[in-house]
Amino acid sequence: MTHDVIIIGAGAAGMMCAIEAGKRGRNVLLLDHSDKPGRKIIISGGGRCNFTNMGVTPENYLSENPHFCKSAFKRYSQYDFLDLVEKYEIAWHEKKLGQLFCDKSSRDIVKMLLAECDEAGVNLKTGCKVQEVSKFDEQFSVNTSLGEFSSESLVIATGGLSVPGTGASGFGFKTAEQFALKMIPSRAALVPFLWDEKSKSVFENLSGIALPCSVSCGSGKFDESFLFTHKGISGPAMLQISNYWQEGQEISIDLLPDESADFLLLAKEKSPGKKIEQVIQPFFPKRVFETFKKSFITDKRSMAQIPEKVLQQINDNFKAWKVKPADTEGYKTAEVTVGGVDTNELSSKTMEAKKVAGLYFVGEVVDVTGWLGGYNFQWAWSSGWCCGQFC
Ligand SMILES: Cc1cc2nc3c(=O)[nH]c(=O)nc-3n(C[C@H](O)[C@H](O)[C@H](O)COP(=O)(O)OP(=O)(O)OC[C@H]3O[C@@H](n4cnc5c(N)ncnc54)[C@H](O)[C@@H]3O)c2cc1C
Repeated sequence: MTHDVIIIGAGAAGMMCAIEAGKRGRNVLLLDHSDKPGRKIIISGGGRCNFTNMGVTPENYLSENPHFCKSAFKRYSQYDFLDLVEKYEIAWHEKKLGQLFCDKSSRDIVKMLLAECDEAGVNLKTGCKVQEVSKFDEQFSVNTSLGEFSSESLVIATGGLSVPGTGASGFGFKTAEQFALKMIPSRAALVPFLWDEKSKSVFENLSGIALPCSVSCGSGKFDESFLFTHKGISGPAMLQISNYWQEGQEISIDLLPDESADFLLLAKEKSPGKKIEQVIQPFFPKRVFETFKKSFITDKRSMAQIPEKVLQQINDNFKAWKVKPADTEGYKTAEVTVGGVDTNELSSKTMEAKKVAGLYFVGEVVDVTGWLGGYNFQWAWSSGWCCGQFC
């Protein structure tokens, strides 16, 4: 059975690509090994799908080539996707930081994409295990559990490795390697951190408590809240910074983000007679203060009696708490995969592999990873849309 285009992966990027290629009159076959399309969309955003972000800019993404994504976002932006959502009268709301969510259910987004696929004449086959792909004489051949299909164009939209239960597989990475495309090493991201044994014994009693913070690691810095869990730290701030974290690195947490960098030195001038504990205690819930007091407050005298150097150190313990996670929770709970097909191997206009005519990669399988907040779906929509104009 020959088609113009075969797309492997009926997730966000694959469906968007199929719609656009179908609208151009291409005969499109969309394959997925899961029993249902868009399973990650369904579980996303706590069931309400944070489908885009009003503030999308290339700076919200990590990629070896930070310029690669610019063209796709210019041609298909968050406003274009919002127009589609509104065409289907899906009620939505903006949460904080420009994040757009469905009012009712993320299933509305999947229904919308399937309706568009239908209208564009896309042939969708689920429960179709792809065993092998090959290229011979300008034709791609796709061997599956439902038989062999061939096409002029082949689009790989199989996503990243996170949450294997949703159908995630390494198929896209394997295919890129099969065609000798360079890969950027991958790792789990937008993922909670795990403590080492020693830190776990100190902090596990704080499990369930959230605090505001400013967290930084490498070139990443986020002002958000974080959450103590029974095995580590999570919450928006930690998920965001996990995109920038590599094994063995320290992250720096400012536990008093609204206070100046040398808040204790200023407090000493203002209240020299106060005990240092009295100065710090009001900033934290009791249980948190008691825990931090044990390791952070090394001198308990009044402010005036504490030598400047010691005061500075205590100040820094709170303003730049150095945490060295033992690891992350890994792909089991990660929202995305950092790394993937090296963008230098692809055209930023079409998403086609420069050295394999007719082979395209879209969505998360490509080395473009967004922050938390709707950015990853927007990359899936934009890259899928661009590819759909050419494949
Ligand atoms: C729990 C969770 C919540 C998330 N929430 C959000 C959010 O609210 N906002 C946001 O922007 N991002 C969110 N993300 C990230 C977002 O879901 C992904 O970045 C996005 O789905 C990537 O789209 P994609 O089409 O590239 O891949 P996917 O959506 O993962 O689709 C890939 C498809 O390929 C199929 N597939 C894989 N291997 C094969 C194979 N060998 N043969 C056939 N088919 C195959 C899979 O079954 C799947 O349907 C979340 C992720 C998770 C895990």
